[in-house]
Amino acid sequence: MANGRPGVGALAGRFDGSPGDGQAGAVRPADDPRNAARPTRRVAILACMDARIEPAGLLGFHPGEAHVVRNAGGLATDDAIRSLVVSQRALGTEEVVVLHHTGCGMADLDGEEILAAMHEETGERPPFELRGVGDAATSVRMTAGALRASPFLNIARIRGFVYDHEDERLDPVTLP
Ligand SMILES: [Zn+2]
Repeated sequence: MANGRPGVGALAGRFDGSPGDGQAGAVRPADDPRNAARPTRRVAILACMDARIEPAGLLGFHPGEAHVVRNAGGLATDDAIRSLVVSQRALGTEEVVVLHHTGCGMADLDGEEILAAMHEETGERPPFELRGVGDAATSVRMTAGALRASPFLNIARIRGFVYDHEDERLDPVTLP
């Protein structure tokens, strides 16, 4: 794992690692091969696509233990929610970890300028939103709030972290 540190996955200790008795999508025989695809720690990480970050390892998860959903900014977009629905309903995850970071390329992005330029070049305005994420801890809180507010997700536990590139440190974000 990154930096040789345990990370939150290793410290979590909440899950016993046995698949199959989670609430969502659990009505499935124990020998169903699809069970093998279920993350054993029942966690899904929503993280920024930043090239410097390897979210699962950074948080202390090993392959097979957690899903990783990534996009620009690590935001609760429709497609991120679509992936989390599959993660929860078909593959039994119950916890979400939101991971953003300092120095994000999305921090002060002028989304409107990009969208307007694309509109001018193509004659079509892209159907998605594009905006800067601003302060990392604030964007973690906003993203967690958006996930909690989604009627399609059922989140037993949600945690947020900011990875500080300068200090190579994971800072927990207090969620309201
Ligand atoms: Zn980023």
